[in-house]
Amino acid sequence: MCFKRGKFIFCAVAMLVVLASSIAIEKVSAKETFQKNESMDYSVVIDAGHGGIDPGSIGYKTKVKESDVNLAVAKKLEKRLLEMGFRVVMTREDENGLYGLSTTNYKKRDMQKRKDIINEARPDIVVSVHMNSYVRHNLRGAQVFYDKNSTSGEALALSIQDQFASKLEKSDKGIAIGDYYMLKCAPSASVIAECGFLSNEEDEKLLISPEYQDKIAECIFLGIVNFFNQD
Ligand SMILES: [Zn+2]
Repeated sequence: MCFKRGKFIFCAVAMLVVLASSIAIEKVSAKETFQKNESMDYSVVIDAGHGGIDPGSIGYKTKVKESDVNLAVAKKLEKRLLEMGFRVVMTREDENGLYGLSTTNYKKRDMQKRKDIINEARPDIVVSVHMNSYVRHNLRGAQVFYDKNSTSGEALALSIQDQFASKLEKSDKGIAIGDYYMLKCAPSASVIAECGFLSNEEDEKLLISPEYQDKIAECIFLGIVNFFNQD
């Protein structure tokens, strides 16, 4: 009885060791796959939402501008994608909006310009980066939106949301359909990543930190890589 029990414990320990080593091997091979695919021959438009006189939402406590947080995350994402061999086009690379000098009717011209950039780039995918906001301050977490008529958009949204759910706080709510201009600019798989709520104090604290911004960029990046690896 005693012996058997000892044997059972030994077996359990041995199984744990095998399990642990197979997890370690899996991790290494995932990393190797990324390195092998050094030149991912796909093009991505990264759209940092808002800019210029349009700050987007405003941080609840710090009054940070959403447009600045969007740009910070977009640039971190751009860096990761370029390192992996993707072709990347940014709709904006500084704090300015895309409406030109006049501010009359600026929103319409800003959006049109983003659409023009996307259509000129003819990308495989479009990722619009935004931070969310809500009148009540309790809502938290990241969520990806897609157009209801786009199955590729839905697949990309799912792939990014998977990463959000496992790596970001309070982000397991699933993807959502959104009726947004940026999702209808081109036939490319298009998503809007709302990366957290600037109207929530805890989310805001995370969203303004470069470390968390990098984590968001990593999630979107891995979501994109997994999306292309599904094909
Ligand atoms: Zn926004």
